[in-house]
Amino acid sequence: MTTGTCPHIDTISEVKLPEVFECAECVKIGARWVHLRSCQICGVTLCCDSSPNKHATKHAHFTGHPVIASAQPGERWLYCYPDDAFVQY
Ligand SMILES: [Zn+2]
Ligand SMILES: [Zn+2]
Ligand SMILES: [Zn+2]
Repeated sequence: MTTGTCPHIDTISEVKLPEVFECAECVKIGARWVHLRSCQICGVTLCCDSSPNKHATKHAHFTGHPVIASAQPGERWLYCYPDDAFVQY
């Protein structure tokens, strides 16, 4: 992937997508989610910022893992938190 602005996305050649379409944290607490995002560093799938618990953003801030991909069927994009970089693939 080439963004020209984000060194994190530039190193990604294969996008990680989930095998199970659920938020790994919401299922533990019985919460609901809206959309799903997959961390491109460790592969965990968590919920988006429209979801009550915003687990994907919390994960990025807590772990320092910068890049997520949309795990929604039909959506093909990556986002980097520290660079605020968005790219479709
Ligand atoms: Zn970046
Ligand atoms: Zn969640
Ligand atoms: Zn991660």
